[in-house]
Amino acid sequence: MIVDAQGRRFRNLRVSLTAACNYACTYCVPDGKRLQAAVAELGASELLRAVRLLVESAGIDKLRITGGEPLLSPKFDEFLPAVMRLPLKDVSVTTNGQFLPKKADLIVASGLKRINVSLDTLNALRFRSIAKSGDLATVLDGIDRMLRAGLNVKVNMVPMKSANVDQILPMLDYCLERGIELRFIELMNMGHLKYSAAYQRDFFGMDDILALIGRRYEFARTDAAYDSTSVRYEIPGEGTFGIIANESEPFCASCTRLRLSSNGYLYGCLSSTKRHPIADLLQLPDDQAKTLLQTRLMGALGDKQTVQFKGEVTVMKFIGG
Ligand code: SAM
Repeated sequence: MIVDAQGRRFRNLRVSLTAACNYACTYCVPDGKRLQAAVAELGASELLRAVRLLVESAGIDKLRITGGEPLLSPKFDEFLPAVMRLPLKDVSVTTNGQFLPKKADLIVASGLKRINVSLDTLNALRFRSIAKSGDLATVLDGIDRMLRAGLNVKVNMVPMKSANVDQILPMLDYCLERGIELRFIELMNMGHLKYSAAYQRDFFGMDDILALIGRRYEFARTDAAYDSTSVRYEIPGEGTFGIIANESEPFCASCTRLRLSSNGYLYGCLSSTKRHPIADLLQLPDDQAKTLLQTRLMGALGDKQTVQFKGEVTVMKFIGG
């Protein structure tokens, strides 16, 4: 097992099935530039082999399928049931929810227990102005289907001053009523936002979120797993919510995440542009591949920040959000 000087090791793997997405969210890509078809990506069987090698070599026991939009990719139908058969403690999917009604039967049949749906507003017009595509009612229907099937659903919301801060309380009410944990993701200084005034203008951080929620609810900080990205709060008798406070309470010191991009690169940190190829290893027998993989994993672990997320020009959908 590779461990760094801060005692960090890889435990969570995020696999980007495809960089393509049916949305063009304002915080992810500039000017509605949607990537409809990605090129030179690994196929489902190559990604599965890479995942198996990483599980066996790096001590991975949690896996999240993400993207781009994972449910958009034809690979999803083969990939999900196959990873559910791997010896992992936890598998989850992050999706924008637009294809959830269509993929619900496959998801339920796979035995998946947890799903995160990204949703930034309950206002249909605002939804279109943030995502530049999609349909709110379809996402809500998808969430209901997952809840009815007994999955643990979390909703991710990125609060932005100019777009959806007034949606924080309605979103929280919606989630509490359904037993969903809402997780506010502080706007990250990534991709086109890295050098843009929009980041400073739109950032709405943990203190502001808590102050706003405090107008309606009493809450207290509660437990989170040691390597969790989320600071969790309990509203007694109502439920919980979380804040992924990249800026306000960075979690770099206990980060166990490793990312595998759809074009075959390992990334050890969202705040670094460094990447480590893995596609060449997939042509080799297991023993040779695993030996070479150790060097790539050490490189990726060395990319982690010591203290704080600094932001980068890397785009979340390419390396797996
Ligand atoms: N398409 C899927 C989805 O929408 O959930 C998975 C990929 S998306 C890149 C994963 C998560 O990254 C989403 O919850 C999205 O809100 C978040 N995200 C993307 N860019 C972000 C940014 N600049 N700041 C904060 N969160 C961001």
